[in-house]
Amino acid sequence: MIHPPYVHDNYLAEGTPFVMDRQPFLPVAPMYAAELLERHGIAEPVLFDCQLHDLREAPGVEDFDSYGVACMGAQNITPAVHVYRHLAERVDPARIHVGGQGVERLSQEEFERIFPGARKTDRNALAQLPDAMDAGLERQTARLTDTDLRVYLGNEMTLPFSQGCLFGCSFCGAQTKRRESFFDTRAFLDLYCGHAQRLGIPSLYLYCTSLDFFQQALPGGDLAQLTGRLEAVLEVSERYGVDVGMHALTRADSYNAAMASDEIRDLVRAAGFDRFGFGADGAASVAVLRAMRKHADELRSDLIHAFDHAERNDFIPEILYVFGIPEDTKDTLIETRELCGLLLEEFPNSEYRGFPAKNEIPGNSNWNRSGWRGSPAHTRLLDEPDLFLNLGFETLANDISHDEPDKRLMVNRYAVDMSYRAHELGRVRSYLTIPMAEQGTEIMDDETTERFSEIVANYAPDLAPVLRKDNITEHRVALNSAIPKDS
Ligand code: SF4
Repeated sequence: MIHPPYVHDNYLAEGTPFVMDRQPFLPVAPMYAAELLERHGIAEPVLFDCQLHDLREAPGVEDFDSYGVACMGAQNITPAVHVYRHLAERVDPARIHVGGQGVERLSQEEFERIFPGARKTDRNALAQLPDAMDAGLERQTARLTDTDLRVYLGNEMTLPFSQGCLFGCSFCGAQTKRRESFFDTRAFLDLYCGHAQRLGIPSLYLYCTSLDFFQQALPGGDLAQLTGRLEAVLEVSERYGVDVGMHALTRADSYNAAMASDEIRDLVRAAGFDRFGFGADGAASVAVLRAMRKHADELRSDLIHAFDHAERNDFIPEILYVFGIPEDTKDTLIETRELCGLLLEEFPNSEYRGFPAKNEIPGNSNWNRSGWRGSPAHTRLLDEPDLFLNLGFETLANDISHDEPDKRLMVNRYAVDMSYRAHELGRVRSYLTIPMAEQGTEIMDDETTERFSEIVANYAPDLAPVLRKDNITEHRVALNSAIPKDS
């Protein structure tokens, strides 16, 4: 099982010397798949994590029967392709399996163009095994060295909590329109805390995987599913004496529904939660909200209510905002900037995470819309899979995501403007990254470049003075590898 390098530290693409990832995380998804394969006698897997080790130096890499390559999301297709190519030069590509959310809803033809001769592996095949939601990672983590485990435990860890979301927002590539199902969270936390105690690590910080953490608080939900897991978190962390901190994503309406109960608020706090990311996309304009199919016409007031509650109760509210979909206009982008500014100013704990929209990503409903498949951008992605990095959430609008130049420049003008404001306030959580672009393809006008250079001065002071609109994408690798990784 191979976890590829981070897309912006991709030593396999750049042919650069290996440097350990700046913020490596325990690759739970391939480990989970490995455990299910092993448990059912299908394979005897070994994990290779390209965040911590150089695949080019891996001994006996050609000696395995088959290879699983994990691909978490659209932009992760790029490093997955580089892992695939490295392997395909050494072994029969038919022995290489690529799976994960990033690739599983590509058509067979699309997959074959990107990973010729390899096999597309759908998580559903594993998810349907009888004990799929109950498998733990004891056996897989036991094979890690203590050195690697210390690195993982010292960084943010992923706590498998739940998967599935009842809603079906058009841009979302997650497991939408399905009931939330839960992992054995207690067992995962027990395992993490046990290792932390053994290695003398006093605290852990965890990202809960739920798509909408409080979804069970909405009508028809079963809140006991959530509260039972929160109580388990509290019990396990107290038993091991490990200080646990956590964060999660939530819709504003479900947060408000859950937090109507002070008991739930107290339980959430006691379990270690200190921040929640709220999907604010489209809140500035009901027309845009409806185009996104968010089913949340009251989002603006729900958000303000949720932010107010979060601030009063010492939770940091994060503004997650996707903007720049085809239905967005200059007016809606101005409204978006105003709303994000208002939230930042009114709620001094809040933090900003703005994402220029990628309307079509593998797995979202737009990917199947007529007119996309076979379009010039779609064809270029399949011919040059490195361009999938242009579909990263935090990547600036580019000629794959926004083929119309004026719209691309306009989206980036507001993206940089909003990020600039958040930087001024010291409350930016996600940094904008630079896409790939051909010579002569502009992603910013002069004024935007000037503002962006001021942002860059915060994390790459040597590069900031040399940036111009006609050379900014030439500095992509250095700029992107200088920013804190999004978490
Ligand atoms: S964006 Fe959030 S609410 Fe919408 S479908 Fe995705 S997970 Fe569900």
